[in-house]
Amino acid sequence: MTRQMSTFAEARAARSGVVGLVPTMGFLHEGHTALMNRARAECDVVVVSIFVNPLQFDEAADLVAYPRDLERDLALVSATGADVAFVPAPDEVYPVPPATRVLVDDIGDGLEGAHRPGHFAGVATVVAKLLAGIQPDRAYFGQKDAQQLALVTRMALDLSFPVEIVPCSTVREPDGLALSSRNVRLDAGDRSVALRLSRGLLAAADAAADGERSGERLENIVRQKLADLEPDYVRLADRMTAEPIDRLDRPSVLALACRIGDVRLIDNVFLEPDGSADRGLWLDSTSILYGDR
Ligand code: AMP
Repeated sequence: MTRQMSTFAEARAARSGVVGLVPTMGFLHEGHTALMNRARAECDVVVVSIFVNPLQFDEAADLVAYPRDLERDLALVSATGADVAFVPAPDEVYPVPPATRVLVDDIGDGLEGAHRPGHFAGVATVVAKLLAGIQPDRAYFGQKDAQQLALVTRMALDLSFPVEIVPCSTVREPDGLALSSRNVRLDAGDRSVALRLSRGLLAAADAAADGERSGERLENIVRQKLADLEPDYVRLADRMTAEPIDRLDRPSVLALACRIGDVRLIDNVFLEPDGSADRGLWLDSTSILYGDR
């Protein structure tokens, strides 16, 4: 039985044994349920938070357009056997406009950070509040948001949060498109153009497997597949620091962001110095995202 809660105090009172937190912004899909299933397998109590964090949206229009469907989300959370669906009102998270922001030097500056001013301060601040308010032992984050994962991992270390940040592989639709709540805003034409993102990244992963280690050449393989799309960036970066690097000589991420129509998508592959890659988990049928809506 999943209990819905709206205050930090209630969520803390539900703690017992090893507590796992899965922070989300709702409009859930198999990427989120993979995190929840992993938490369910590893923790005694699983808390799934659903909160569209206004502080991390750098574009007001994106916040307004962000898809929401709480009823469906609660059914999905329930189906994974989570104990708590934590759905706070904005007032619970921000009882007063916050005078305190969490800034993680450097990690949040490049890649996404360079294109979304204030975004990572918003992410780090809300994650710090969730960690402080709920006090989980483990918190689950997707590799799809690689820079966010690096940032949150470093923040937890720097601020001595007694939590283990657990990275989880990117879940992809059967044709390779990384699952994102924003995918529902793509029309059929844009959706097929969006496939170039994962195809480019996977082609680069193939090249890495064949021995390519040059960052520039790996990036160019992706750019070729993107064809006439103009990405915000395509960049090989250190996975821990999100700092751009020129050679695949350490655990890395090849990351990109690209606007298709009015939807901005991000994707990446995790690459190892031996040329191996995490290509993600592929669904074998259409995502629940497009269910009977
Ligand atoms: P969001 O609701 O988009 O803020 O995402 C909540 C969590 O789910 C974050 O840790 C994301 O990285 C993760 N997530 C989102 N999409 C995917 C995906 N396709 N595969 C794996 N994790 C994902």
